[in-house]
Amino acid sequence: MTRYIFITGGVVSSLGKGLGSAALGALLQARGYKVRLCKLDPYLNVDPGTMSPFQHGEVYVTDDGAETDLDLGHYERFTGVPARATDNTTTGRIYTEVLQRERRGDYLGATIQVIPHITNEIKDFIHEKEGTADFVLCEIGGTVGDIESLPFLEAIRQFGNEVGQDRSLFLHVTLLPYIPAAGELKTKPTQHSVKELMSHGIRPKILLCRADRDIDPDDRRKIALFCNIDEDKVIPALDASSIYEVPLTYHAEGLDRAVMDYFGIEDVKNLDLSIWEDIVHRVKEPEGEVQVAIVGKYTNLADSYKSLNEALIHGGIANNVRVDLKFIEAEELEKRDPAECLEGVHAVLVPGGFGERGSEGKIKAVQFARERKLPYFGICFGMQMAVIEAARNLCGIKDASSTEFEGCKVPLVAMISEWVKDNKIEMRDENVDKGGTMRLGAYPAILTKGSKVAEAYGATEISERHRHRYEVDIDYKDQLEAQGLVMSGVSPDGKLPEIVERPDHPWFIGVQFHPELKSKPFDPHPLFVSYIKAAVAQSRLV
Ligand code: GLN
Repeated sequence: MTRYIFITGGVVSSLGKGLGSAALGALLQARGYKVRLCKLDPYLNVDPGTMSPFQHGEVYVTDDGAETDLDLGHYERFTGVPARATDNTTTGRIYTEVLQRERRGDYLGATIQVIPHITNEIKDFIHEKEGTADFVLCEIGGTVGDIESLPFLEAIRQFGNEVGQDRSLFLHVTLLPYIPAAGELKTKPTQHSVKELMSHGIRPKILLCRADRDIDPDDRRKIALFCNIDEDKVIPALDASSIYEVPLTYHAEGLDRAVMDYFGIEDVKNLDLSIWEDIVHRVKEPEGEVQVAIVGKYTNLADSYKSLNEALIHGGIANNVRVDLKFIEAEELEKRDPAECLEGVHAVLVPGGFGERGSEGKIKAVQFARERKLPYFGICFGMQMAVIEAARNLCGIKDASSTEFEGCKVPLVAMISEWVKDNKIEMRDENVDKGGTMRLGAYPAILTKGSKVAEAYGATEISERHRHRYEVDIDYKDQLEAQGLVMSGVSPDGKLPEIVERPDHPWFIGVQFHPELKSKPFDPHPLFVSYIKAAVAQSRLV
């Protein structure tokens, strides 16, 4: 029997609903249940693929090639369950599907309305998960009270009624703000938010109350009383110093217990949270520290590189070190001597990116890391910049560039129009809509035996997730390899370079894919483990 937990948020956005859902997923797993997490986003974009990282943070890519909300990254990192395209939808997608059906004439002359057509489509998205897990956790994006959320709230209200209370639970995440002048946490916004939710016919049975300090038992009682919720189901959710502590702190406050209690499930003995205890121990008591410089473009919004930051932390967990991330604006680097920004760091990383702005700064960073023998990790755009750097500075191709940039004369990196997936040719064309024109999702790669990457992976066949339009031109293989930049990973048909590395360097690897998307704290990605190990070795040299 599949049970559904709907997670809504109130008072303000950015409450950490995604993280809370992911942590609850991990706790239910620790109790032996199979979980599945999904997210309903009320915004109008069909998917977040075309949104700026400044606006919406990272776009998380699934194996099956969907561009999804970054919360799906949290879900996967905390539960290890690979996210799927069908785990995320948006108002835009729901409407698109309904309208396409209307055009096909599927509604037989009916007037299309929010209720029931849009709400049915939303319910179908949720119903589709039936039988796939013991618990389906369904997070509603945005904040209760947003205009866009209304059809989603209506749909989950109906859904809850249809499957019944014993199979559905509404959990609401709120904030208790601290007011310095009064010297206390305030419960009123929470009361209002629950009232708002009830005005939509949804009665939350568990409240997760975010606060920056201890919540007084009197306040808990007050919230319970005003919001009609059992006192033991008003769960304090205090800020944690590491996100990986959240499953432990929520457990200590009784969150998973409250869920079991609500559904009337007998408690299990010996709940095993040792994986999380071990992770938190390693995060909090590292044996050393390394500093990694990330030379990128979206450096002032932490969420834009969410999975990358976490994967680096995971590499640190595996090596028992804290990883200090130093974000450097690529454009800044263009104006300065790279040594001013990079001297003293233990490793350099150029992450994924789009567009020309800052690219020269990234190329300078590659050159600095190559010449100074600093560990270098180039991810997607960072691999493309490593190739351009080698072409220009080592192969003597002065105009080496990418067709992504204005006035590209010698395209070492170019948009290719077709590639092979599962023995089928897929097409890509510069003139089509921007949404969905990329090589997206999991693709296999074959690694050269004895290469550094093959050693790091402990394998010669891998599968990693992609999100890019341009490819390094394989025709430059010989010229680049003659200068020490070896193509140690290629697509199975041998046409697309997937990995470059320098055997003459302590650690210089560029990958066309996004390994950070698959890293987990309890299963750190091998490339990040190996990269941080190289940074540790570097830190011992300086
Ligand atoms: N802009 C580059 C491309 O589209 C790299 C993309 C990325 O780094 N994700 O190929």
